[in-house]
Amino acid sequence: MPHKVNRRDFVKTGTAGLLAAGAGTGPAFGQAPAVLTSVKPVVISSANGFKYKNGGPRTCVEEAFGRITRGEDVLDALVAGVNIVELDPEDDSVGYGGLPNADGVVQLDSCCMHGPRKRAGGVAAIEGVRTPSLVAKAVLDNTDHHLIVGKGAQDFARNMGFTIEADLNTPKSRKAWLEWKRRIDPEHYLDPIKRDEAGRKVSLQMMREGLLDPGHYWGTINCDGVNAKGEVCGVTTTSGLSFKIPGRVGDSPILGAGLWLDGEVGAAGSTGRGEANLFNLSSHLIVEEMRRGRHPKDAAMEALKRIKANTVEKRLLTDKGLPNFYVTFYVLDRTGRYAGVDLYGTLNGKPRQFAVCTENGPQLLPVESLLGEGLSDTP
Ligand code: ASP
Repeated sequence: MPHKVNRRDFVKTGTAGLLAAGAGTGPAFGQAPAVLTSVKPVVISSANGFKYKNGGPRTCVEEAFGRITRGEDVLDALVAGVNIVELDPEDDSVGYGGLPNADGVVQLDSCCMHGPRKRAGGVAAIEGVRTPSLVAKAVLDNTDHHLIVGKGAQDFARNMGFTIEADLNTPKSRKAWLEWKRRIDPEHYLDPIKRDEAGRKVSLQMMREGLLDPGHYWGTINCDGVNAKGEVCGVTTTSGLSFKIPGRVGDSPILGAGLWLDGEVGAAGSTGRGEANLFNLSSHLIVEEMRRGRHPKDAAMEALKRIKANTVEKRLLTDKGLPNFYVTFYVLDRTGRYAGVDLYGTLNGKPRQFAVCTENGPQLLPVESLLGEGLSDTP
């Protein structure tokens, strides 16, 4: 049974690994890191890593944690975890059944990084493969490259033996797209700003009517883990922004934006408005802040401050002049300290959460927020 904890417990749990390891986080770049022998393994992810089981017995964070503690490679374990969410047709933000682009085509993005091996791989705008994280891992394992996109990514996947399907929509995702299409301004492609506004307006209305899950307009899974030896890996996988312009790629497959890690420091990944992370290379910034010795929470707050400062366009601001979108970070360091941090702490009055699995089992925890109470009705 999942164990619910309060914020004080969370801070305690979050520092346990550090105390066990008896070490600080960040060596200066190029300096040998302290050898860790007793890190308490942790897996952290977006809240959907605690929810979907694809008809099986375990969620993403439980699956990944179990595999890590049985000695499996950390990245293999994390990818096996996110595969559950990718394959579950009920999660309409990731993999099979992810909400499609404006043309009704499901285009998926993913990347992954391996700390000890210092390898990375990603795919963007790939169609027809339910598990883009496994294709990203194949890029990491089998090529000299870090990112393959579009048709090339699909051809690569086919050559690697993946099944290519004609359509990854489910009845649920197709229904949502049809409704969105029916409502949108038919001239929207002529003026990108008008299209953006029209698209947001329609999406908000569909959320109010219960046709779209507000948590999934932006939606993704990021999952990061560390084992007892302090080996850190991470993976992010998504169908990206709902009803996006075909070919639009967000932060999720971009190293440094939707995921970054350094095996000698820690990992950071994100969900939410990808453009904010692309503009600020937030995950890279967070890892560099941890390298300077900052706690995962403080490092992530720094990235959120950067996002806030760099958000100046009126269409992206509330009437209080604050960002009108969400960005969440999932951060852990190699000593096992972790944090889930967001611009806002609630969505439509409900606490925003992240998932974690430790020796105490899987839990959903409240995020720490930069700006306090959240927005309502905001995609
Ligand atoms: N960050 C993803 C993107 O911008 C979407 C999300 O996490 O909601 O594509």
